[in-house]
Amino acid sequence: MLDFDQAQTLLANAAGPLQRSEEVSLAEAAGRVLAADLTATVDIPPADNSAMDGYALRVADWGAGVHLPVQQRCYAGEMPEPLKPGQAIRLFTGSLIPEGADTVVMQEDTTEADGHVEISRAPAPGQHIRRRGEDTMAGAPLLAAGTVLEAAHVALIASQGLASVRVVGQLRVGILTTGDELVLPGRPRATEQIYNSNGPMLAALARGMGALPVHVLHARDTEADLQAAFKTLLADCDLVLSVGGVSVGERDLVKPALASLGGELSLWKVRMKPGKPVALAQIDGKPVVGLPGNPVSAYAVFTLLVTPLIRRMQGRDTLFPPLSQLPLRTEHPRQDSREEFLRVQRRLADDGSAELVPYGHQGSGVISSLPWATGLARLPAEVRVQDKDRVAYYDLRHWLA
Ligand code: AMP
Ligand code: MG
Repeated sequence: MLDFDQAQTLLANAAGPLQRSEEVSLAEAAGRVLAADLTATVDIPPADNSAMDGYALRVADWGAGVHLPVQQRCYAGEMPEPLKPGQAIRLFTGSLIPEGADTVVMQEDTTEADGHVEISRAPAPGQHIRRRGEDTMAGAPLLAAGTVLEAAHVALIASQGLASVRVVGQLRVGILTTGDELVLPGRPRATEQIYNSNGPMLAALARGMGALPVHVLHARDTEADLQAAFKTLLADCDLVLSVGGVSVGERDLVKPALASLGGELSLWKVRMKPGKPVALAQIDGKPVVGLPGNPVSAYAVFTLLVTPLIRRMQGRDTLFPPLSQLPLRTEHPRQDSREEFLRVQRRLADDGSAELVPYGHQGSGVISSLPWATGLARLPAEVRVQDKDRVAYYDLRHWLA
């Protein structure tokens, strides 16, 4: 038996970051991983400008009851004239600050009539002026390689005038389902068959992480069929995930099929529930991970053991999303010889604090528990966990992102 944390570390290190990168337009950038550090090349804002609709003037020209002639109306996107002594320039949010002006008064504190403006309140020097470079200075670090780009990052990159950005190449994932009992959704099903849910599930999980599920193949439980499918996937993908056929049953042939393709192979019984049998092979320098066939086990092993490897191959800066410690609600004390990962919902208790409520049926084949769960709660091996004990919570929104 392999310890859960050891298994997680081993898998996270099963491959290095992809060396491919590509330039994508900002419209395509969300969800991609920045390939190299970005440094600002221009000051943002590029010039002093007004934070308000109002008037630019010199503080020294203000006095109670004074009427200043309005020299110019300068809209955002226009060049202001230099401000003449004793005058004011009408400005709008984003208008450039005229040379000579040292303050902006907001229009709510003014009355304009007959080409003159009266200002009811004494202005403070520099007020309502957004200074050149106060947001970002040219030369400052902008974003670090490994950042997963979201709308906020795209805004920052666009503000620098960049129309495209260099990102890590999209991780190509090959998926292989196995089992003579399985039939593809959409096809007629015989009594002894079940629908293949792991194939579509794994493709969706890979896509949800910004990877590209290039092929979803199915192999019958023969060594030859498995071997041929693995070859196809290895030729075309960076990472191969197979599901099922890794236990100790007579028809569990993933291990011999992988062994016959050469390379290093480890088969572990990971001390986790659901889960347990997990295979890792290195073939032609590419990692192949064999997941357990039970849908819930496949989902949990993917979430906990495969996503850190995917994030690493994608060049991301964070492999392990942060965990929180939350009280678990349980009617009876729980204890197991393996680490147990319960499907739970994070809810708010009556006093507003968060707690974890487990799904009623924790069987490793219970697919209906998956859309219900918001996360997984980790119950340590050999520890008696009682109602309201705090346990580690793996939030699926973060772990599957
Ligand atoms: P195995 O590890 O191949 O013995 O599979 C364990 C259990 O998971 C069996 O009940 C299989 O029928 C089921 N299973 C395996 N692969 C899939 C799949 N792709 N979709 C749904 N169930 C599966
Ligand atoms: Mg099977």
